[in-house]
Amino acid sequence: MARTDIGPPDYRLMLPETITSNYGKWKYHEILKPGVMKHVSETGDELYTVRAGSPRLVSIDFIRDICDIADKYCDGHLRFTSRFNIELMTPKKENVDGIIGDLKKLGLPIGGIGDCISNIVHTQGWIHCHSAATDASGLVKSIMDELYEYFTEFKLHAKLRIAVACCINMCGAVHCSDLAVVGIHTTPPKVNHEKLASTCEIPSVIASCPTGAIRRHSDKNINSVEVREERCMYCGNCYTVCPSMPLADPDGDGVAIYVGGKVSNSRKPPMFSRLAVPFIPNNPPRWPEVTSILKKIVEVYARDSKKYERLGEWIQRIGWERFFALTNIPFTEQHIDDFTYATETFRATTQFKW
Ligand code: SF4
Ligand code: SF4
Repeated sequence: MARTDIGPPDYRLMLPETITSNYGKWKYHEILKPGVMKHVSETGDELYTVRAGSPRLVSIDFIRDICDIADKYCDGHLRFTSRFNIELMTPKKENVDGIIGDLKKLGLPIGGIGDCISNIVHTQGWIHCHSAATDASGLVKSIMDELYEYFTEFKLHAKLRIAVACCINMCGAVHCSDLAVVGIHTTPPKVNHEKLASTCEIPSVIASCPTGAIRRHSDKNINSVEVREERCMYCGNCYTVCPSMPLADPDGDGVAIYVGGKVSNSRKPPMFSRLAVPFIPNNPPRWPEVTSILKKIVEVYARDSKKYERLGEWIQRIGWERFFALTNIPFTEQHIDDFTYATETFRATTQFKW
């Protein structure tokens, strides 16, 4: 019988020798150039790291190609970062250029370390998830093509994290990223009354709605639910628990753009990202409206921010009215919070800029 409950393999068995012998002894690190850093141990040992972007969704052939480079230069060791970048490490400085050359031959960009745009944390999209309002891999490819130079060069005053989620379940990091793209619906669910009772647990469906828009069907002979459309804000949560309430709509689905989140405690506490653009319709395969507004925000931020200032810190300093003015993003009624703690987001001061 197969063994169960064995957990993941012990990571210590997979560490490069230089890391094993210097574990917990690292003294400092330096970023030598885009995508390359050096760690120095108190023993005097050095470890060079080359970071390359990856599309996250990769083939086994792709993994084998990366393993070949690891075999050639890194004694068979490699790692993936928490943003799906690939890192190849070597104690030999003379190996760095070879690693970079071989990664570039695979078409991978070198970068993503330091004050730059690293990889985009993203989700399943139309490739695999049933509740997506947009695609993930297609959007990410389009955005990174547009912002490529920010990955491979130091063009910013601080890190800029981008995340994509294809529905408001927000798998990943969209709620806490400098820039975030979130798939949203704009039409209510279409209830399949014939199938609902046999496919869904009705109390769970009613309880899934954050605005209380779902109730038992008013006709007691129909074993189903009704949606009060004036209360529905198309979150799709009812569809997550009930396959008889689909709401995907090719014409109504699209994305919203959020800005200003961060998770680190540096300088200012972590922040949630906030709404910048309420809706842009899906426009595959390149989403040009989305990529151009993101580029605009990045360019204005790069120009106007101060050293170390994350995008959210920059907005806090200049004020939201100035952010909308500088980026030419129209401010609409959708920007005004109208959910549970909305009043906390209203301006309770006379301080503002014309
Ligand atoms: S964000 Fe939504 S659509 Fe995307 S993978 Fe997560 S649950 Fe699926
Ligand atoms: S989409 Fe969201 S708001 Fe609309 S009925 Fe379903 S759970 Fe409620």
